Amino acid sequence: MLCSKCSQSADTLTDGGLCESCQAQAEDRRSDIIDLARAQREQEGLVEIDDNATLSEGNQNGCYVAAWVWVDFAGTQYDKDKGEDNEPIE
Ligand SMILES: [Zn+2]
Repeated sequence: MLCSKCSQSADTLTDGGLCESCQAQAEDRRSDIIDLARAQREQEGLVEIDDNATLSEGNQNGCYVAAWVWVDFAGTQYDKDKGEDNEPIE
């Protein structure tokens, strides 16, 4: 079997068709990109990025990284800490 990236012969390939070496490189790159995403975008408690976040890469000079974005319920219909004025009617 041939690696789909380096075209070297390999005994085993990953699901993505990569040899062990290319897979390791891809994992390093992915981890670097997630570090970049955190450095550029993460905000404690507001925007959080998982270690295994999904990346979406096209041909542009950058990529999308899936992130957790905090939504605040305060003052909305989902507010869990309503004051007495806003107590739901039982
Ligand atoms: Zn390879």
